[in-house]
Amino acid sequence: MKIMLDAGHGYDTPGKRSPDGMREYEFNRAVAAYAKGLLDGYQNVTVYFAHSDQTDIPLQQRTNNANNLRVDIFVSIHANAAGGSWSSAEGIETFVYPTRPQGALSLATKIQNQLISRTGLRNRGVKTADFHVLRETNMDAVLIECGFMTNPNEIKLLRSENYRRTCAEAIVAALADHFNLVKKPTAQPAPSPSPTPTPQTGLYKVQVGAFKQRNNAENLSARLTNDGFNNFIVTDSGLFKVQTGAFRNKQNADDLAQKLRNIGYQPYVFRA
Ligand SMILES: [Zn+2]
Repeated sequence: MKIMLDAGHGYDTPGKRSPDGMREYEFNRAVAAYAKGLLDGYQNVTVYFAHSDQTDIPLQQRTNNANNLRVDIFVSIHANAAGGSWSSAEGIETFVYPTRPQGALSLATKIQNQLISRTGLRNRGVKTADFHVLRETNMDAVLIECGFMTNPNEIKLLRSENYRRTCAEAIVAALADHFNLVKKPTAQPAPSPSPTPTPQTGLYKVQVGAFKQRNNAENLSARLTNDGFNNFIVTDSGLFKVQTGAFRNKQNADDLAQKLRNIGYQPYVFRA
């Protein structure tokens, strides 16, 4: 099946930013990217993006592309705003076209439930609106508002990779349920060809960066902590090295490195 993910707006779209300057597109595109990564783990799914990092693709072009590609579902991802300054408006809502198409309504309900149960934010419910992307798409379409950029608490979530990933996981879980998606089989690791036991002296360590300047290491360390990774700084050969784990089992180190890679870090695993 074909899924089109639409990160609302573009990087330079006027307005569409939090009172402290986060661009809505930054959040929307991150969720779309995480969702694509997760959807790539399912069989017979092709994901298209309606948006582009290079330019703000007009709405008409987005829906034309969806119609020409004959995608099966159009999922538009947004962050909400109540005016241009801080306010207490909060929570998550998902929209379908006012005629409440059955398929879209069913998917929207699943997305809304997944988002609420995974984030714990206020449930504003499934609503209807005459939005362009809901009206001009020939297929079922939903538009998700994943929290308020204008809420002082929710903007912190919207900025965090953890929350962006959680939103993507919620959306993909709902899509998988709605379309009965089947996961691709995971590759089995090949059995070790060598019967010779390797000495288990050292540990497999995951290093995310090495710097001459301590404050650079501290900045990376803070980012990792913010993303939920325990880490520590080791001083070695005149460098400040930021490491996130030490394991007896190489697979555990590789798994952690992959998680970090998935969200944009460039770790490497070594034995010491
Ligand atoms: Zn928006």
